[in-house]
Amino acid sequence: MNTKHIEKIIPPPAPHMVGDGFRVHNFFPGGNISNRRMSPFFLLDYNAKIDFAPKDEPRGVGVHPHRGFETVTIAYHGSVAHHDSTGNSGVIGQGDVQWMTAGSGVLHKEYHEENYSKKGGPFQMVQLWVNLPAKHKMTTPKYQAISGNTIPKYALQENGGTIEVIAGEYKDIRGIASTFSPIHLYNVHLQPGTSADIRFSENYNTGLLVVQGSIIVNNSGNAPLDHFVLFENKGEEIQITATEESIVLVLSGEPINEPIAAYGPFLMNTHAELQQAYDDFNHGKFGYLE
Ligand code: MN
Repeated sequence: MNTKHIEKIIPPPAPHMVGDGFRVHNFFPGGNISNRRMSPFFLLDYNAKIDFAPKDEPRGVGVHPHRGFETVTIAYHGSVAHHDSTGNSGVIGQGDVQWMTAGSGVLHKEYHEENYSKKGGPFQMVQLWVNLPAKHKMTTPKYQAISGNTIPKYALQENGGTIEVIAGEYKDIRGIASTFSPIHLYNVHLQPGTSADIRFSENYNTGLLVVQGSIIVNNSGNAPLDHFVLFENKGEEIQITATEESIVLVLSGEPINEPIAAYGPFLMNTHAELQQAYDDFNHGKFGYLE
């Protein structure tokens, strides 16, 4: 077996609040993982499962811009409402994924959905920032609202579980999201004691996050709940075995080997492009959102 070995297993870093609605563990960039190490994935914010108390006025993050990349929001518990300056809005509920291409620029806001907020309860989300290749950085903004029940699923043998293919491919199943560079993104659901075998190109940057339960990777590495596993860029095959009922977010992609100029909500190739982003934002070119 041409095993893709573990480079490191990273416990959740100390959390911080994004607005008042998201209590996130930022696995990268920073800490142990540089802003290129998981390219094309630039950022991984993980709101591990917590309970929010009921609140009439929804918690969240107010209006802010993005340019030059995509935000991918994956909901495991709770519900988020989203509005942007192109007039799009929607609700990302349990099991759903929102793939927003900021491209040339949007303003948006992200809040707990009203009914969820009033009731409170468990909340668990991932937000990924996916870089765009230089030639697509200024693409027209769009978003893909992906409800959980439309995500293609691969059934593992003997009711061992399912692999939801959000993007890319798993065996003969093609993911539902369209991407600007080659990316595989799965939610792997495993029953206790069962395994899934996954294969990615050697050079693809690859990691996984244990969202529920606990797993053993390649028959050796113990990855508990809320831990991130970073893989070496050698070998192709990964085996995940669940020690209890588990959900694992698996991400892998072809690196974008271009310069990075990143600041705040913008992810560009050069400092001049960053400056342009701030200029355009300050001159109202990202549109309007209340
Ligand atoms: Mn945002």
